[in-house]
Amino acid sequence: MAGTAALAARLRARLGDAAVLTDRAQLRTYECDGLAHYKVTPAVVVLPRTTADVAAAVRACQDAGVPFVARGSGTGLSGGALPHAEGVLIVLSQMRTIHAVDPGDQRAVLDPGVINLQVSKAAAPHGYYYAPDPSSQQICSIGGNVAENSGGAHCLKYGFTTNHVTGLELVTPDGDVVRLGGRAPDAPGYDLLGAFVGSEGTLGVATEVTVRLTRAPETVRTLLAAFPSTDEAGGAVSAIIGAGVVPAAIEMMDALAIEAAEAAVQCGYPEGAGAVLVVELDGPAPEVEAQFTEVERHCHDNAAFEIRIAADEAQRALFWKGRKSAFAAVGRISPDYIVQDGVIPRTALPEVLRRIAELSGDTGVRVANVFHAGDGNLHPLVLFDDAVPGQAEAAEKVSGAILDLCIEHGGSITGEHGVGMDKAKFMPRMFTDDDLDTMQMLRCAFDPQRLSNPGKVFPTPRLCGERPGRHKGPHPLQQAGLAEVF
Ligand SMILES: Cc1cc2nc3c(=O)[nH]c(=O)nc-3n(C[C@H](O)[C@H](O)[C@H](O)COP(=O)(O)OP(=O)(O)OC[C@H]3O[C@@H](n4cnc5c(N)ncnc54)[C@H](O)[C@@H]3O)c2cc1C
Repeated sequence: MAGTAALAARLRARLGDAAVLTDRAQLRTYECDGLAHYKVTPAVVVLPRTTADVAAAVRACQDAGVPFVARGSGTGLSGGALPHAEGVLIVLSQMRTIHAVDPGDQRAVLDPGVINLQVSKAAAPHGYYYAPDPSSQQICSIGGNVAENSGGAHCLKYGFTTNHVTGLELVTPDGDVVRLGGRAPDAPGYDLLGAFVGSEGTLGVATEVTVRLTRAPETVRTLLAAFPSTDEAGGAVSAIIGAGVVPAAIEMMDALAIEAAEAAVQCGYPEGAGAVLVVELDGPAPEVEAQFTEVERHCHDNAAFEIRIAADEAQRALFWKGRKSAFAAVGRISPDYIVQDGVIPRTALPEVLRRIAELSGDTGVRVANVFHAGDGNLHPLVLFDDAVPGQAEAAEKVSGAILDLCIEHGGSITGEHGVGMDKAKFMPRMFTDDDLDTMQMLRCAFDPQRLSNPGKVFPTPRLCGERPGRHKGPHPLQQAGLAEVF
């Protein structure tokens, strides 16, 4: 405690009293992210306003040997921003300046706390927008998006965050300020920018982000297709993509997810649907028209019993309202639920959805599915009532079994929500010890003392934990004569 008090005093001297919180009631505001069943109260919260503030905070942590965790808006769904009980939480919500919107270079330069949707709003007068669009885009931060390599409905056509970040300024875990990439694409050398994107706060703190802006499309057309079951809807997804059409988005909801959305936002989806697809095409008008006809045909061929085409922006918004509100809407049909996130090859959609239904039938645990079907990125919502003994455990079990299904079908344990705290235990199901050691060696190169968001992503600390500071001396492979340093 004395150590924490001294650290807080040093931080106050550098950042000012208002930027350093130690009052327990205030600290509790930050005890969890969007995965609210993990809670840890941090020892100290800092609210930096500049890169220099972040660097000072990280350096103070480094000197004191205290862990630190970066936090953007706290909407993460894998416990990535879960604080460390003896650590400092660096909250970037005071850093929200949009430094530049440059249509000439098709770039925007942003503080890490800038809200995703604000980037598109700032670029709109120039005819541009920021393509990655997580459903949380009204509140999540660009820094959090970078750390999670976030996706969204329109990432099927336009790519994930990693395809839209061209430059970063970051504070390394040593407290140094460095730049990776810039406005120009493809800096030579190792792709450290690519390594940082998706590193979930374990390689330092992003303090400035340069993103690619995308030209707003000439035309957008959206349809809603209703199918008897997820089998036929999954078949339509494969048929559309297999025909070479890449829609801006293809989203699927099953019957339970539709029931929840209807209860919450009355989106008026076709009655009796076992599954619906929301398909959106964008681009030059003639291309969109031709492909739209093809999409309709594939939906019909796969037994769609109703197809609605958005006549105007209001109807398009209604189609999306059901989809975008679906996570929260599930609260209408279940007191508690787990938002799972996994990936499979899209051709495996019908089979895996059938297996999830079987799991649900066998265990009595209800599962609603609402997801980015075009990417094969599943979001099963596993429903339970925490007040009923045993239900939470049963839901956890089903949720884990779904990830096993993803791995079994050649997929992954996370598509876009990250590994964080929640899925670290699943990493060995997907990766060998050697794989994990190799990842941790990269981490050691940035953070030999493992102070940057420790306890996340990796199931057990290896390598740097075993040999702190090893990167400053010879690597074991060098010592064994198996590798050279040039
Ligand atoms: C309703 C809802 C819908 C969602 N839909 C989607 C979706 O469609 N697609 C999707 O991908 N995600 C989705 N998410 C998850 C979440 O919104 C994203 O992961 C988002 O990118 C997190 O941003 P954040 O600012 O809230 O980050 P936080 O939750 O604060 O942090 C997330 C991680 O990033 C790290 N971090 C934050 N800022 C920085 C920084 N500046 N430098 C280094 N590390 C940092 C943290 O340490 C943590 O590990 C959804 C969440 C909710 C609640």
